[in-house]
Amino acid sequence: MKRITPKNIPKGVRWVIDQLQSAGHEAFIVGGCVRDMIIGREPNDWDVTTNAVPDEIIKVFEKTDRRVVYENNFGTVGIVNKELEKEDPAYEIEITPYRTEGDYSDNRRPDQVSFSTEITEDLMRRDFTINAMAYDPTRELLVDEYGGERDIEKGVIRTVGNPDERFSEDALRIMRAVRFSAQLGFVCGEETMQAIRNHAKRLQNISAERIRDEFIKIVDAPYAMDGITSLHTLGMLKYIVPELEEGIDCEQGGIHSFDVWTHNLKSLEHGTHKNYPFYVKLAALFHDIGKPATRRKANGRGSKEWTFYGHEVVGARMARDIMQRLKFPKDTIEKVYKLVRYHMFFSDPDAITLSAVRRMVKNVGKDMIWDLMDLRTCDRIGTGRPKEKPYRLRKYHAMIEEVIRDPISVGMLKINGDIMIGEMGLHPGPKMGWVLHALLEEVLDDPTRNTREYLEQRTRELYELPDQEIRKLGEAGKDKKEEEEFQAVKKLHRKHKVG
Ligand code: ATP
Ligand code: MG
Repeated sequence: MKRITPKNIPKGVRWVIDQLQSAGHEAFIVGGCVRDMIIGREPNDWDVTTNAVPDEIIKVFEKTDRRVVYENNFGTVGIVNKELEKEDPAYEIEITPYRTEGDYSDNRRPDQVSFSTEITEDLMRRDFTINAMAYDPTRELLVDEYGGERDIEKGVIRTVGNPDERFSEDALRIMRAVRFSAQLGFVCGEETMQAIRNHAKRLQNISAERIRDEFIKIVDAPYAMDGITSLHTLGMLKYIVPELEEGIDCEQGGIHSFDVWTHNLKSLEHGTHKNYPFYVKLAALFHDIGKPATRRKANGRGSKEWTFYGHEVVGARMARDIMQRLKFPKDTIEKVYKLVRYHMFFSDPDAITLSAVRRMVKNVGKDMIWDLMDLRTCDRIGTGRPKEKPYRLRKYHAMIEEVIRDPISVGMLKINGDIMIGEMGLHPGPKMGWVLHALLEEVLDDPTRNTREYLEQRTRELYELPDQEIRKLGEAGKDKKEEEEFQAVKKLHRKHKVG
């Protein structure tokens, strides 16, 4: 716990407060930034609250050289400090008039917001005691009506006022409670926790976007594994990602000592420890999500061994469906999809050849091949197996380094359509495309073949083949169409319906 002092507040923030106070208004920093300063954590953003209304706020800053932004329904005015980097938490400071909130007839947003003249009224509408403090650096005055500082000291999350009422107003708050506990390593107070259980089903009325934003913060938090576990034990996860719960008690046998659920969580935990990018952590959490649906007895009924054939194909698809449902951005969906789809690649270390590594780089892309390695480490550690022997890891690294500059696309071949038509006098048409792909297959097997001379000679030979045959060669390397692959896995599982 730190004592909050004016000198820890960035100059730009104090300047905003000074301007408002010099014009005769009250002004405080408020909410998350006060909480974070007391904890000794870097605030995400600096929010200021004041008894001035938007027109008055705008008037104060019109005379200064700062850019003023006012484009929302909540009375919030933004002051932009162009001298700072965009990433700086003090780049845009948001000033919001003291507010009280009206009724929440739709469980989501207050029907109306009205301004207030009392700081204590503004603090009363805030969700948790730790978020309901305000600080005036000029008077060195902390307004803490609800015991926020005490709750920080105890590491407890409690609502301001009656938790049932507060969660009835806005059910997203139950997820925010878990989010703050995962970010700060706090626990929910007894009453707050009980009320969360009672309100869990009301997450169904909350928009996917709001749920997504809290879910992202939980997965990205220092105590992510505990956060996801709490979502489950408090009855929320079934309204967010029920697919994860299918892994509970889904035993795996073999080298696995954990069920699928615990294994996914422990894989995420390793991603957290390693500080991997968000999408790698999410891929770690989802990587075996297809296992429950694909689990079958290995050798017929009596067997104790399980197989999960095609779980990465089914799992990648499930991960994508989940993320689309939660309205994740396309590029995150694409990345997580690829990582889950190809996470089995490095599982058989002795079978890996350079040309297989080349094909993998082609599939996941150069920029993601190292992420795939990181996911693999999460997977291993999440199994409870000891760290991989360094020499083996060095071997993979060396193999990836070796192929990373090799040609992996038609565009990287030393021959192209223009040369074939212009200089070799060949006829354009679909055949040319098949030939180029067939050539790429040869180059993926052996990159030293990527010379103009070799490729010209092979082109002439291939052109002699009947269409049928050259087409087959050209399409051999193309990934089977996703749908086709998925259907093949499904069919196989129907055929062996034993598990
Ligand atoms: P961070 O910015 O680190 O994610 P924060 O505490 O600042 O955390 P924000 O979502 O930025 O959280 O909200 C700022 C403040 O607004 C909170 O500290 C809280 O006082 C209040 N607040 C935000 N959302 C709600 C809500 N749904 N119900 C009540 N108060 C809220
Ligand atoms: Mg904030």
